[in-house]
Amino acid sequence: MSFHLHDTLRRKKVRFEVLDPGKARLYHCGPTVYSEAHIGNFRTFLFTDVLRRWLELSGYQVTQVMNITDVGHLRDDDPEAGADKMEEAARKEKLDPWRIAEKYTALFMADIDRLGMQRAHHYPRATTYVPQMLAQIERLVQRGHAYRAGGAVYYDVTSFPAYGQLSGNRGDDLIAGARVAVLEEKRDARDFALWKSDPHHLMQWDSPYGRGFPGWHIECSAMSQSLLGETLDIHTGGEDNIFPHHECEIAQAEGATGKPFARHWMHSRHLLVDGGKMSKSIGNLYTVGQLEQMGHPPVAVRLALLRSHYRQVLNFTLDGLREAAAMVRRVRLFADAMRAAADGAEPGPPPDWLLAAGRRFEQSLDDDLNTSGALDGLFTLLNEAHRASAKGPVAAAALATLQRFDRVFGLLEVQGAQHDEMDAEVDDLIRRRTAARAAKDWGAADAIRDRLAALGIELFDGKDGKVHWRRTQAPAG
Ligand SMILES: [Zn+2]
Repeated sequence: MSFHLHDTLRRKKVRFEVLDPGKARLYHCGPTVYSEAHIGNFRTFLFTDVLRRWLELSGYQVTQVMNITDVGHLRDDDPEAGADKMEEAARKEKLDPWRIAEKYTALFMADIDRLGMQRAHHYPRATTYVPQMLAQIERLVQRGHAYRAGGAVYYDVTSFPAYGQLSGNRGDDLIAGARVAVLEEKRDARDFALWKSDPHHLMQWDSPYGRGFPGWHIECSAMSQSLLGETLDIHTGGEDNIFPHHECEIAQAEGATGKPFARHWMHSRHLLVDGGKMSKSIGNLYTVGQLEQMGHPPVAVRLALLRSHYRQVLNFTLDGLREAAAMVRRVRLFADAMRAAADGAEPGPPPDWLLAAGRRFEQSLDDDLNTSGALDGLFTLLNEAHRASAKGPVAAAALATLQRFDRVFGLLEVQGAQHDEMDAEVDDLIRRRTAARAAKDWGAADAIRDRLAALGIELFDGKDGKVHWRRTQAPAG
């Protein structure tokens, strides 16, 4: 079998086909950095990590891009004329939006590392791609897909008959919630802004259409095409991105080039917590940092979010998280046991049970990235190796297979399963210090450094460019 995926656009499972043999170009809609990403966001981001890892293990040369939205993402209840999420956060936190972006980008990158995600090859920030966005807008105007009205530039949806194909949504619900003034200047209620002007907006750029800022949708089509070319192999996002965001991206990208935009579309289903919607008011909008402070290591969060197939609604519970932590411990103890049982032997020919576990693993991932099936394969390996009392070359072969599986699941390599509460507190302080520094809040950063010093923790910069720590003295008490 080869990799097959459920393609949202074609509404069925299809064989994965790339533009250039052996190469896979992936674009993922990333976070809007106005607050800390929660586990619902990370479910979507982690699925892209597994996708990349599986394609690499399958022999593809992958280029992975995840954008950082730091301007232009307006509130969901009024996507055409509402407040910019970055600005709302800036006013609330009394920081300018650039500092807000730096702060939450730093926290996001720290969470990515702690969750054992491989860093994408590019994390383009929308604010650094404005010239490319303006170039795409200009092409759309020239090709008759966009028009100017009242200081804004709108996409003319009627010029692109395929609009609505991805979502099956013709966009009628856009009318609700849009402000009357905006409706009046648009030719069609479904038209969406590529460029907006608002004298009160805190982030503005000069353009041929006057000072203003880009719309959220144009950011992704311009950044993805700038970094990956006119046609991408896979574009992903959460299911809430399908409409209008991805529908609009297709209209823009294909309107500008006349070529297919993404060969495949993949979308992850949303996350429930304790059977219900996550919400700030209930207090279950968990972040990785919060869960870690509660004593749950990030690697357990990683597994808890990866255990179910990405197209199934996942119900996240703290019991499920503890179960995931136990699974991680089991896998790590097994690896240690096999290393000891191998006793330095080279891997021998794999017995039938090992081959069967490998087939289960591979066939599951080739089948639309079925991670739960692949985990069955992994735990079959554990059980069968115990049953066979594997040792010597057989244990070495079992360990080698497990390590191969782990190139997808990343449970052995991620730090954290052995973390005690002390480590979790230190990691959290370091993360907060990084965020404070990014926001140029030197007072807060220094206070955290002093607190760490009091705990007997010394910070140093690692060769990998990240901040590491060591104990200069045993923790008190
Ligand atoms: Zn996007």
